[in-house]
Amino acid sequence: LDYRSIEFLTSAPTLTECPEDFGAEVAFAGRSNAGKSSAINALTGNNKLARTSKTPGRTQLINFFRISEQQRLVDLPGYGYAKVARSMKDEWQRHLATYLEKRGCLRGLVLLMDIRQPLKEFDLHMLTWAVEAGLPVHILLTKADKMKNGPASNTRFAVEKALKEQGLNRGVTLQTFSSTKKSGLDKLERRLNEWLAE
Ligand code: GDP
Repeated sequence: LDYRSIEFLTSAPTLTECPEDFGAEVAFAGRSNAGKSSAINALTGNNKLARTSKTPGRTQLINFFRISEQQRLVDLPGYGYAKVARSMKDEWQRHLATYLEKRGCLRGLVLLMDIRQPLKEFDLHMLTWAVEAGLPVHILLTKADKMKNGPASNTRFAVEKALKEQGLNRGVTLQTFSSTKKSGLDKLERRLNEWLAE
């Protein structure tokens, strides 16, 4: 698939406003600052896309990007915004949960975690939910360039081990990734292609 010809499709504040539920979709999620916008930029070569997602007021929306008529990438808002009021967070989490539970065309979830602080509470929530729902997850340990190769792969093994111990490894794959160095892009594309293939 050609991720370079991707286009912004629409933003939806709630599930009812999402595009029609057909074809295949892969969603990207991560705590804010995990490197989600940078990863989407690196994948698509389009700096405007993720900036769209970051426009203030739009951060709480689900953003849809069109790869083809039948295939989409979805940018879920970063969670963990300190400045968002508690009530808004709760409301947002309900919308997110509804999207994840009800979206029939959702084929997989890319979960981004800063390699220096993996498996935070919300990551575990997302993983638990996805594994229980039978939704495959591909974890990107982002900003891998911040570590030497040895420690980076040690972290990958440690995360793998922790997931196994917690029974959260079913359907879960993981890799190190760096948007800055553009490393790990091939692997990510292969996973996306598998999920989005008709
Ligand atoms: P988002 O909030 O998840 O969309 O995160 P961003 O993509 O905006 O990245 C948050 C911060 O981390 C920014 O300052 C980025 O420049 C930085 N960053 C993102 N990806 C990388 C990476 O691969 N390597 C390094 N060194 N920094 C990164």
